Parts: sequence; C-alpha cells; structure tokens
Amino acid sequence: MRLTINLLVIVLILVVSGIKAQSTIAGFLPVEPSYRQDIPDPQTFFGHIPGERHLSHDQIVSYARELERLSERLVIEEYARSHENRPLLYLIFTSKENQKNLGQLKERHAQFSDPGQNIPADDVPLVILLGYGVHGNESSAPNAAVVTMYYLAAAEGPSIDSLLNKTIILVDPSLNPDGLTRHSTWVNMHQGKTDVSDPASRGFSEAWPGGRTNHYWFDLNRDYLFVVHPESKGRIQKFHEWKPNIVNDHHEMGANSTFFFQPGIFSRINPLVPLRNHELTANIAAFHSRKFDERGELYYTEESFDDFYLGKGSSYPDVNGSVGILYEQAGYRGKVRETTQGIKTLASAVKNQFDLSLSTLEAGMKLRKDLLKSQKAFFQESLEMAKNDPVKAYVLGENHDPQKLGAFTEILTTHRIKFYALTRQSTINNLEFQPGKAIIIPMNQPQYRLIRGMMETNTRFADSTFYDVSTWTLPLAFGLQYAEIRNQRDLPEMMSDTPSETLMTSGALIGPEESYAWLMSWDDYSAPAALWQLQQAGIRTLVATRNFKAGPESSVRDYSYGTILIPVSGQKQSKAELFSLLKNITEKWAVNIHGVSTGMTSSGIDLGSNYFIPLKKPEILMIIGETVSSREAGEIWHLLDQRYEIPVTLAEITSLDRIDLNRYTNIILPGGNLRSISQRGTQKLKDWVSEGGILMAMGDANQWIADKELAKLTFKNTVRPDTTLQVIYAGREETATIHSISGVILKAEMDISHPLLYGYNQKELPIFKSGIRVANTPSGQFTAPVRFAKNPLLSGYISKKNLERLEGAPVVTSIANGSGRVISIFEPMNFRGTWLAGNKIVANALFFGGAIR
Ligand SMILES: [Zn+2]
Repeated sequence: MRLTINLLVIVLILVVSGIKAQSTIAGFLPVEPSYRQDIPDPQTFFGHIPGERHLSHDQIVSYARELERLSERLVIEEYARSHENRPLLYLIFTSKENQKNLGQLKERHAQFSDPGQNIPADDVPLVILLGYGVHGNESSAPNAAVVTMYYLAAAEGPSIDSLLNKTIILVDPSLNPDGLTRHSTWVNMHQGKTDVSDPASRGFSEAWPGGRTNHYWFDLNRDYLFVVHPESKGRIQKFHEWKPNIVNDHHEMGANSTFFFQPGIFSRINPLVPLRNHELTANIAAFHSRKFDERGELYYTEESFDDFYLGKGSSYPDVNGSVGILYEQAGYRGKVRETTQGIKTLASAVKNQFDLSLSTLEAGMKLRKDLLKSQKAFFQESLEMAKNDPVKAYVLGENHDPQKLGAFTEILTTHRIKFYALTRQSTINNLEFQPGKAIIIPMNQPQYRLIRGMMETNTRFADSTFYDVSTWTLPLAFGLQYAEIRNQRDLPEMMSDTPSETLMTSGALIGPEESYAWLMSWDDYSAPAALWQLQQAGIRTLVATRNFKAGPESSVRDYSYGTILIPVSGQKQSKAELFSLLKNITEKWAVNIHGVSTGMTSSGIDLGSNYFIPLKKPEILMIIGETVSSREAGEIWHLLDQRYEIPVTLAEITSLDRIDLNRYTNIILPGGNLRSISQRGTQKLKDWVSEGGILMAMGDANQWIADKELAKLTFKNTVRPDTTLQVIYAGREETATIHSISGVILKAEMDISHPLLYGYNQKELPIFKSGIRVANTPSGQFTAPVRFAKNPLLSGYISKKNLERLEGAPVVTSIANGSGRVISIFEPMNFRGTWLAGNKIVANALFFGGAIR
C-alpha cells in the first residue's frame, strides 16, 4: 500500500513538473549549457513561451533574421518564394571559424561522396538538415524550429562547440509557408483568454481547405519527385547543393496517438533504398528512444509509414545518398486538447519535436563516420548497379509537342540527372525517335537509383497495402514515348558527347503580315494558353474538325483536328495589329503560327468550310469548398491558372443558388461529395446545362451527376474481399486492401478525331487511376471517346478482379443534355500537377465542349 502511495506521489510530481517544465523557455532547453545573454530567446522575442500561441511563418522569418544579425554561427539562404511570395529559408549553422570557409566546406563535402574523388573523412563536415512542417497544419514542427534555432545560435559550452566545429546544420523552419499561415491564423483567431480543450470547439476543425496543403491545395510532401511547385523545386536544388547526411522531416499525426519515428515498415521500403539506411535509421532511433525513455514519453516505430513512394520528404533523401527520417508527433491543432492520452498541450508537442532534433544532432556526432561512409558508398554502389543493369539507357521522345519534353528535362536538371541529345534517327520497339525531339538518359551515373525510381514500371508486388500510390512512372505521366536501350555498344553513336541543358522551346510567327489567314496547331502543350489570350483580345477563332493540308507548294504542312484558324478578315484589329499580337503570343507561349495566302487548301477541307466551327471564349466557374476534394479542385485550378493563365471563378458550393450562372460557358465540378448543393442550386445547374452550358464533372462528382439525373450514368458493382476465406484477425488490414486501388497506371484507347481528344496524335494514353469507382459505357454513339484498353495495366498494384472490371470501361464520357452537355472525366487529368498527358482533355472540354455535335 505504501508503495502505491509513493508511486502516486512520484507520478504526481512528474505530471506537475512536466507541465511546469514548459512554463518558461528554460523548460524546453537542455539544462547544462549556458546561453548568450545578448541573443533573445523565443519567449523574449515573441512575448510568450513556445506553444502559447501558434507562430505564423512571418514571425518565424523575423526571428531567424534577428538571430542571423546577432550570431556569427548563422547565415541564411533564401531558396524559394512560395506562391504567395513568402520566403523559404535555409538557416545554416556552424562554428564561427567554419562560417569563414563555408563555400569550401560545402565543396569538400560534395567532393567526398563523388565516386571519382578520394578525400579523408576527417576533413569533411557532416551535414544535417532539420526540416519542419511540410504540412502547414502540423504546427508543433515549425513552433519547435524556433527553439532549435535559438539553441544553435545561443548555447555555450564544449559540447555545442564541438558539434558546430564538426557539423553544418541546416534548419528549414517552415517548409510550407502558405499552409502554415492559413493554419496559424485559424487557430489563433479561435483562442480565448481561457483555454478550451474540448475537441468539439471550432478551432480544432479548420475550414476548407485547411492548412495542410500549399496555395494551390497540393500536398507538398508528394512533390519531391515532380517538383511542380516553387517550394519543392528550390528545396531539391538546395538539397543537391548541400547533400545532407541526415534529413529530418518533422510532422504530426492524429491527436490520440503518441509519437512515431522511423524506422518504418521494413517490408514496404522501396527496393531502391539501400538496406544500410534501415540500419542507420535504427541506430539513430536508439538516441531518440533514450531521450524519450528518460522522460517517460510514449512512442513507437516500425508499424506504420512506409518509404515506398519516393516523392516524400523522408524517402527522397534515401535514394539520394542521405538518410531521411520521418517524425510524427500527435497533433493537437490548438493550444490545449483533450485526447485519449490525456490533456495535451502544443508546448509538450514542441518539446518532443525539439528533443528529437537534439538527439538527431547527438546521433550525427556519434555516427559521423558511418554516415559519411554510407553516403560515399551509395554513389559508388550506384555505378556498380548501373553496370549490372541489363538496361543501359532510356531514350525518350515527343515528335509533336517539344514543350512536354522540355518540361521533363527541367525535372531531370533539378534532380541532377544527366541526359544527352539523340543524334540519329532510331526505331526502337516500333517507336520512332528523331534527333532534336528526343533525349537519352544513360544509367551509368551517380543518380542511377533515382533514374530507375522515376522511369521504371512495376506490376509485381509482395504487399497490397500502400501508404501512398503504388506507381508514378514519369514518362507515362508526361505522355512521352520511351524505350530501353539494352546494348551499351549502341550508345556512343546515338548520343551527343556532352550532356544537354534543360531544353528550351521557342515559337515563331511564320508568314507575312499580308497573310490571308493564320493557322495554329493544337499539338503544342501551351496551345490552349495561346488560344485563350487570342480570345481575350477579342480575336475571332475557329477550330478544324477535319484534317487538311495547306501552305505554299514548297512547304505544304499537315494540319490535323483541332487546328485553330485565325482569319484576317472580320476581325476588329487591323492586319498589322493582328500580326503584332500573334507575334507576342508565339513568343510568350512558344507556339508556332503559320500564315497562308489562300483559303483553298491542297487537300482536305478549305478554310471557309463548315467543318471549321467558331469558338467562344470560355467563362469558367469552378465549385469549391466544404465536401469538394481540395486536391482535385487544386489540380484543375493550378492547371488553368499557372500553366494556361486562364482565370477561373472559384465559387463556394453553397453559393450556387445565389450566383447568376448565365455569364458562364463552363462549370467545373471537381471530385468529392456534392451533397451541399441545395435543391435550388441543382435546379439552376440543370436549367443552365439544358440551355447550352458545358458541365465538366470530375471523379466522384459523377455520382452526384448520376443521382441528380444530369446525365444517364451508371456504375459497376465494386469488388469486395472474399469474407468466406479464413484469415487471421490480426491480418485483417492487409485483406481489406486487396481490392482497393491506391494509384495505378492504366492504358486507355482514344478516338483522336473526337473534339475532346484534339491535340493527341497517338491512340493510346496512360491514365492514372485511384479509387474503385468504374462507370458503365453510356448508351448512344460517341459517348465514350476514351476507354480503358484490354489488358490495361502499365504499372502499379491492382487486383485481377478489378482489372477485369476496368477493361473497356469509359474514362471520359460526353452526354448531351438539351442544348448543353455533361462531360464526365472519371480519372484525374492533372494528377499531382504532373500528369501532363491528361491536361489537354481538360482544355478540350473547356474550349471545344460546345463544338461537339
Ligand atoms: Zn504531415
């Protein structure tokens, strides 16, 4: 009995001291070192202890600048600006002496892992990158960053001196500035003088779209491979500049959890990651567990979060010579919160994230040689692996649209992957590659693993559960044709001697000012952007719905479906004004526009033919908010706004009953559950379509379309796991995922003469599919211009039953409704901003939806 009472007393003391421990800044910091008095700690600078209020990105930046001003240990590099123009910073901490030769140290560190160099490890600094809060609403991470920054700038004593002498520590305090800004504003505006810990309080549930994502509602922690956004692009460039040995990625998970740190699930590590990384991660984890054991903090490892998808912040480093480590603190989304683990505070979460930042630094010091050796070995092994790989190189080409190939090379350059120009015409696997329109990526280079990670397809898997997608083959995403080269001897005569730079494309206006009419091919990636700019300037445009040949006898050109005709007569502008406008557009958008001197073509339709259909400028409204999928809405918004510079009105889903729809030609319903559209809103939408509107419904929004009978759509039954099979209770999660589709690449077949497919030259298209919904082919002719092919699997995991279910099913349907039309697009056409292969279908629906007869 006495023992129990004593224990209770001890527990009480611990609990009380635990809370007390973080009532001043001293409670967050290690006890031994002293701190420089002239450097303000976070409590002094912000006027409250960490966790008392949620810091905004701008506050974190101002503190960083103040530390830089006062401490000789710190310099700051700005590596990017977010979409909302907030700076992304690398805080570079090292000793005062090291700061004087920072450039040299960086170079020596890079040279050390270069397989061609031999530099003793003793002369090389270890580089550790601590990254916080790629998800903007996981606030303990950036709020802990300021404590880390203070410690590194102001702590004094032999142990910090020796750390800073041997190490360069990069602190990336707020990886997602725009998301953090939304989140911190939301939480702070709901916080009163007295604490409310009830999770039902509004502050704990953010309003749509929440703070997790960036400005365009993209998950930046999926963007490390595709580098679509400035945040990721700058981050990856900096990563390669510094080649950190350890990369910490600090996150939050559900409020009722404890703390997770990697190693993650062993069986689901991507096979391209060296096994050694798992060991090193476990060795680093030992430092974390010691830290938490001392404090009695609960944690776990190995049972969740895998490193299969390579585009995440903790897995990208693993295929680039570093060790990436994921940290998941329980997320409270407020200052104080009731959880099943007790009442929890943001301050305690900050303390956890900071403590494991410190134990990472300790681990780095102790494991320094192993980490450096591992990085060096990584690149040497990569060259060995390349030698043993039957694939010696990839050739990639695009014969009709140089811009897509150019965009692809930009990604290669960002990832420091070398590529070369194809120097002679080559036919491989019945695919024709032309010099100037194709590149070669040899495998024999230090980035071998990443090349495979980006290029390969995979259809065999040991496990059916994926934390993220099961495949992401980049050439398929871009719709590029590509082939393997397996004979090393073929290579030298096929490729240029020196690596290429990012391919820049340019356009031109070809023809005299007096031309009779102008013609723009729809093949170029930016053609929709160019068309919109023409229409915006009030230029009359028409689209060709049949093929033809035109041009002077010496240079007759083929013009295919979708060619845009710009007549000179009947325009408000003079010939000269039109000429100058067209010239600007060809330069800005890198498209070619050709002049012709007669309306008579050499074959096919003439320019005055009824097969040219006049076009209207699209006025676009997109429904967003509440139950709409912010990811799917964001992918469309990003495509239209960033890539095409076409404005789109973003309207709240509940406001549909108030808006006058007559000014819009096109309305987009992104995926999601649209139940918040009122009865009146639904009726207005129905009337608008039947009177000529073009409604584009994405993904799951089509269930609503079917329910409300805007179009006659039906769906196939889903495949369910066989419940009669005897499986053990503990294995139920694996069984449940057998028939889910978590991201797979499938082949579709298209009718490229259909207006929704103008600009495509191949009849096959790679489609990214996630989610199990599959539609039936609607009745009527030409209603399903894109369908899944027979044996459609190109890459990724899908069950056999699901594959059979998909064969021949529509990907895109086009169904007339009165004088309008409902265009259903069942799969994402701009998945993660990188599925360029599908972008033109979206553009076609907007520009040519009204031209479908
Ligand atoms: Zn996260």
